[in-house]
Amino acid sequence: MATLNFTQKKGILNTGAEIPLIGLGTWQCKSRDAVVSALLAGYRHIDTAAVYGNEAEVGQAIKDSGVPRQEIFLTTKLGNQWHTRVPEGLAASLQALQTDYVDLYLMHWPCAVDPDDRDKVVPNWDYVNTWIEMQKLPATGKVKAIGVSNFGITHLERLLADAAVKIVPAVNQIELHPCHPSPKLVAYNTAKGIHTTGYSCLGSIDSLLYKNPTIIELAQQKGRSIQQVLLKWGLQKGWSVIPKSANPERIQANFDLDGWELSPEEMKAIDGIPTRFKIFQGGLLPPAMDGKVFLGDDE
Ligand code: NAP
Repeated sequence: MATLNFTQKKGILNTGAEIPLIGLGTWQCKSRDAVVSALLAGYRHIDTAAVYGNEAEVGQAIKDSGVPRQEIFLTTKLGNQWHTRVPEGLAASLQALQTDYVDLYLMHWPCAVDPDDRDKVVPNWDYVNTWIEMQKLPATGKVKAIGVSNFGITHLERLLADAAVKIVPAVNQIELHPCHPSPKLVAYNTAKGIHTTGYSCLGSIDSLLYKNPTIIELAQQKGRSIQQVLLKWGLQKGWSVIPKSANPERIQANFDLDGWELSPEEMKAIDGIPTRFKIFQGGLLPPAMDGKVFLGDDE
């Protein structure tokens, strides 16, 4: 098998733009230094969001890194309290990021939250309306591509069936790891020309994946870290990965993915792990939405 150099390889979005397949996740990371470390280690894809409260640090890090802005694929996300004010939400993100444009702007969740009371949803607001507003953004030059996150098949079907929807999301960013592999949703994304990005590929904070005997054994056999095996599995499945670390050595190690492969048998062994769990159930959303965002069609 030819060696796949994932650090250089890019996915192609339905806009024709390229997306680097390994990015740095920044949830719960307010460290400017982490983003600088990643860019100096060779990462060219940074994932942030309005709700992470770190767009200013990310923007400063990009400037401080010396890496030209046009070499970096920068993603941010429309916060739930901005659904009814899309241009204002984008303007706030661009200002914090100190940039004129983002490469990808995602609707973070298919759920509009009341800006004055984040425990409430906006009554009668349909996320399709949000998308119709987002569709106006690429023409402004402030956004190169638009996409979604935490969308299941039902959400996407409703979106794509609407006569006012003219742009197919470029990306669907979803939770993906061996205990939440979502093959039907990934296949649906692919069939519709939507690039899949996996989040929480390492199992997020206090990862249960690090205790999985199949993954531990495989990592030992390969002489690789558990995290490298998890990331490689996602890349070989065909999605982009955005591991978060605030630690420079881990940031470097998470990018050290070239020159080795998981064989078809090793991929099969990970695919065969029977345990299933989802880390993000929607608990950060208003109580009324808890358990109602994910519709059970993302398996
Ligand atoms: P993750 O990337 O699966 O895991 C991050 C955790 O793993 C952190 O605690 C990190 O700690 C640790 N870690 C990273 N590399 C490691 C290594 N080599 N060895 C040991 N521990 C390591 O989790 P995530 O942050 O939930 O997901 C990744 C990114 O996806 C987020 O940061 C965010 O950008 C995005 N995301 C998006 C959504 C969404 O709704 N769209 C939801 C969740 C996440 P240290 O920092 O201490 O290294």
